[in-house]
Amino acid sequence: MKPVKSKDLLEVDKNLKVVKLGAIPNPQQIVWYAGKQDYSEYPIHTKTPPDEEKAGKWVVEQLLANDRGHYGPLEHPGLIMNVSGYVHNVMVQARTHRVGVSFDVQSQRYTGKRVLKVAEGELSPEDVFYVRPAGFYTNRKGKKYDWTEENRQGKLALALAACKEYANDYYEIGASEEHIRDYLPQGIRQDFVVSFNLRSVLHFLDLRSKLDAQIEIQALCEQMCPIIKEWAPEVWDYYETKRLHRAKLSP
Ligand SMILES: Cc1cc2nc3c(=O)[nH]c(=O)nc-3n(C[C@H](O)[C@H](O)[C@H](O)COP(=O)(O)OP(=O)(O)OC[C@H]3O[C@@H](n4cnc5c(N)ncnc54)[C@H](O)[C@@H]3O)c2cc1C
Repeated sequence: MKPVKSKDLLEVDKNLKVVKLGAIPNPQQIVWYAGKQDYSEYPIHTKTPPDEEKAGKWVVEQLLANDRGHYGPLEHPGLIMNVSGYVHNVMVQARTHRVGVSFDVQSQRYTGKRVLKVAEGELSPEDVFYVRPAGFYTNRKGKKYDWTEENRQGKLALALAACKEYANDYYEIGASEEHIRDYLPQGIRQDFVVSFNLRSVLHFLDLRSKLDAQIEIQALCEQMCPIIKEWAPEVWDYYETKRLHRAKLSP
């Protein structure tokens, strides 16, 4: 039986989304300016850059190809995305990447209403909690098991029970969100805004799209890839051919 992969998660769970919020419009020209400034006798703004495509080709040939490793100029252009529907632990894993990355994460102190709505039946547990779809699972430590629809429904019931308990504490005791969030399952979905530069986003993919990374964060990487491809196509082509999924040491 084939194990569930990240692409299967994306097919089944339509809450999982990555949306571009904004980006430097000419990332490869910006990298060209930065790279060229290094050995220009004059301020680089006095030069006219090639168009975005030619600039991208120059970046690949002069800075990256044959493991040249001149990744510094790639740190200038920024890309901002909204990640939504992913489970709390994906946010925790993503947040271990500190250099050239900034996060704003949905706070469980201020977003308790969605939990109350589950308790009251206005939202389904699946709207707010992530539970893996039924299927056959493996992991890099050699675990192999069937996760049945019954297993899945059991966890959704657990999430619903936790929401009811939350609502009870909230209304009966008047407990604060910052207190009673501690008793919600880790499977809660937690949205965030993340900004990267071109180097740090490729570094993130190096580490988190590896085929032995957890499938949920691989799914996040999969949804980021087309955004980066559209943003910086020539750099992306190089990256996809030479590094993506290859578990290379991060640049
Ligand atoms: C598959 C996987 C499993 C993991 N499991 C765990 C886990 O169980 N528990 C856990 O706590 N973490 C875990 N991590 C997180 C991991 O230990 C790193 O903290 C995380 O990957 C961030 O590393 P980074 O290289 O992207 O760091 P960033 O903070 O993004 O730094 C980028 C680069 O800057 C340099 N750098 C940054 N800070 C320093 C520094 N202080 N000194 C020297 N150089 C620096 C390094 O070259 C680094 O690669 C896991 C990561 C992966 C990919």
